[in-house]
Amino acid sequence: MKVLLIEDEQELRRSIRAFLQDVGFLVESANDFPSAMEKAEQYAYDAVLVDITLPKGSGLDIVRMLRKQNPNTGIIIISAKGSLDDKILGLDLGADDYLPKPFHLPELVARLRALIRRKQFAGNQAIELDELRIVPDDKLVEVNGQRVDLTVMQFDLLLFLVANKDRVLSRTAIVEHVWGEMADRLDHDHFLYSHMKNLRKKLLEKGSKDRIQTVYGLGYRLSSHA
Ligand code: CA
Repeated sequence: MKVLLIEDEQELRRSIRAFLQDVGFLVESANDFPSAMEKAEQYAYDAVLVDITLPKGSGLDIVRMLRKQNPNTGIIIISAKGSLDDKILGLDLGADDYLPKPFHLPELVARLRALIRRKQFAGNQAIELDELRIVPDDKLVEVNGQRVDLTVMQFDLLLFLVANKDRVLSRTAIVEHVWGEMADRLDHDHFLYSHMKNLRKKLLEKGSKDRIQTVYGLGYRLSSHA
């Protein structure tokens, strides 16, 4: 799960980032308005955490832009501004949640997970496609009740495919989603190919249907009715 953290206070940014990474999120961050806008416009995120008072601009404008761009991105405002107006305006502009500072990091994680579930998996704790069952919060994957041991990378790949089931995802979109900022430094096609191959093999070994399809010249698709 890929998260963009927009926060100008360095210490806070660092601690949120470390905490989220520890529990398995891929985190990118921005520390002012222009860099946040650039990232938000250029890349797709499962969720965006946005501070309102930023150098060179307002987080509210980022909320407005994000909401226009993609209804599936979860948006949580994290703000020290306790004013009710800000909260109402932020939610009116399309933010999904509002967490006043200071907050406890586990609470942020709980809200983030709930939000992503709501946005991408219709609020379900587990995603089931016949023989395949995935519990995102527990990083658990089962085929016919048997646990499949996946690496973090393979799990993220599978979750991204399932969240976009029956749609062709381009190699670029997958690489950016799963590797984020590291993507520029990787040999994309080779990396993706080998991770995808191993993921598919592990699922098939446990008796899963052959759901992951290569769409030549385009990318990959996970089929819900294989
Ligand atoms: Ca701030």
